[in-house]
Amino acid sequence: MSSSQSRPVFRFAPSTNGHLHLGHALSVLENVHDAERFNGRLLLRIEDIDRTRCTPQLEAAAIEDLSWLGIRFDSLPGRQSDHFDDYSLALDRLRAMGLVYPAFLTRGDVKKAVAAFETEGRIWPRDPDGAPLYPDTDLRRCENERQQLLANGKRHAWRLNMKAACEKAGQSLTWKEYGADGIAEITAAPADWGDIILSRSDAPSSYHLSVVVDDARQGITHVVRGKDLYHATSVHRLLQVLLGLPEPVYRHHRLILADDGRKLSKSNGDTALRQLREAGKQPADIRSLCGF
Ligand code: GLU
Repeated sequence: MSSSQSRPVFRFAPSTNGHLHLGHALSVLENVHDAERFNGRLLLRIEDIDRTRCTPQLEAAAIEDLSWLGIRFDSLPGRQSDHFDDYSLALDRLRAMGLVYPAFLTRGDVKKAVAAFETEGRIWPRDPDGAPLYPDTDLRRCENERQQLLANGKRHAWRLNMKAACEKAGQSLTWKEYGADGIAEITAAPADWGDIILSRSDAPSSYHLSVVVDDARQGITHVVRGKDLYHATSVHRLLQVLLGLPEPVYRHHRLILADDGRKLSKSNGDTALRQLREAGKQPADIRSLCGF
């Protein structure tokens, strides 16, 4: 085995649907820190499955911002949009296991179903991000009706039958979270997410599916990302087990929050790296704003 193969592999995986902000700077610096500490390699993966919002201009801007910040990657940037075939193969495998079904409800339909349910004083279950779980309307449809809707060309996504998937995975799922105190074994709770989306009518893959396929394809051994994705790891472990993919170790780092205590987003324009740079900040200032 060559030395590069046996070295740990990290990745920084920004979604290029907006400009990079301080939160991205923190995440890439955390990755650089750990890659140095473990003598690992650091890859850049552009997460651009959203073909409407992710543009070549935003990708070029992200690469430029990272280079300005002084980050050196150990590979040319990889792009998720170059790997749609890999995600479809993974989806086919889940489909062949009988774990996937076509989901026809629109966002509006789900909203209506939840509102009707909640007017009766009951609370519809929500996922760890606060979004309502997908109703079981499509799961309960008989095969004939499903085939009819598909034949009629009704717009649909593909969703995971979470209950069947958990039964198939058939073990108590955990992931390994590493930190200053060593490695902790965390119990995964994928069912909290309900029937997650695997592919949409307007995007041939979902975040969850592409991220596990790519982490395996790129031989990622250490996933270092923000705490906002902590609970998503439950789903990632489930998909890894179902697809027979290797298990990386994880570290979910602190977040930089906006003044109102919420997660930084594209709407927090004043924390965009290019804006800070235009305002005269230097890479060293960004590092120190991120606590490095
Ligand atoms: N693309 C995701 C983001 O920008 C991160 C994905 C991950 O690290 O798993 O938030």
